[in-house]
Amino acid sequence: MLAEQCLAIALVAAQVGIAVAAASQGVSGGDEDPDVLPMPQDVHGDTQFRRCRADELAFGSTRRVRVEFMGIHHLNCGTLRPASARLVNGRGGLLERARLACNCLLVEHAAGEYTLIDTGLGTLDLADPVGRLGQEFVRRCGPALDPAEPAVAQVAALGIDPRRVTSIVLTHHDLDHAGGLADFPWAEVHLSSAHLSLIAPALDARLAGRLRPQQWRHGPLWRPAQLRGRGLGRPSAQVNDRIHLVALDGHIEGHCGVMITRPGLGPLLHVGDAVYDTRVLRGGRTPLGLAVFERLMRTDRRAWRESRAWLYRQVAEGVDVLCAHERDVSFSH
Ligand SMILES: [Zn+2]
Repeated sequence: MLAEQCLAIALVAAQVGIAVAAASQGVSGGDEDPDVLPMPQDVHGDTQFRRCRADELAFGSTRRVRVEFMGIHHLNCGTLRPASARLVNGRGGLLERARLACNCLLVEHAAGEYTLIDTGLGTLDLADPVGRLGQEFVRRCGPALDPAEPAVAQVAALGIDPRRVTSIVLTHHDLDHAGGLADFPWAEVHLSSAHLSLIAPALDARLAGRLRPQQWRHGPLWRPAQLRGRGLGRPSAQVNDRIHLVALDGHIEGHCGVMITRPGLGPLLHVGDAVYDTRVLRGGRTPLGLAVFERLMRTDRRAWRESRAWLYRQVAEGVDVLCAHERDVSFSH
């Protein structure tokens, strides 16, 4: 291995978040397996994973809400600046700060209501970053703490009354996804019941560095979903006519993707942290530092690989995808 690569890995381990991984004792961290994943051409023809229309889906147990679909806004609700742009973004200087986003979606419905997909960092996180996010996260990940970035600020800047955000869908509630919950205390919060069970009754010590009870102390209106649907080729549950939670385990127990149907455009899938860079699903490579961190953070390697294999199939079938932290996002909306 080149000296530069050794330095690179050491840098990432030290600067990007080894402290978080250490706090998550028991998390699968070894990278002894290269985790070679099947490329799309290997799975073509597997009709089990063909693209489904909304009316083909089998639904879970969550409350069904009939809404008409309007548009989607992309919101970056938390710029993160960990070490090494070259290792994390795949370009820029080795010692230059990287730039990652906390990508959220605001889905508009005809009734004048909105669904927020993930919440990034919220106003309370910005007011007390060390208390809410932890010293290690602040130091290693370097959140920008820009008051214009919380979802509630961006919703208002769009001219939308935040009270019209009546539902939130969480891929999971790692601290960089759940921070904005308290800015929308009136909203129903949909997530997998398997994931919600992680925070009750007592937080698992190995996840204490990742899940921050301060972020849901206000008592969110949890709407846990049993993922009983099978129409997408993965366990799924309906949130409303256009949005489904889809199991994408591996990053953490109960982690989900959020599938949004778009009339005339095909589905859009927010994959959360199932991958850290969606270029890998299109034949590209995840930058080295990000790939190392991705593996440090997963809690179940086998489930993580199965989730990614399904994602390869979705992309091969034409599903539009974005993930939580890639800095460059583009999709039709
Ligand atoms: Zn994340």
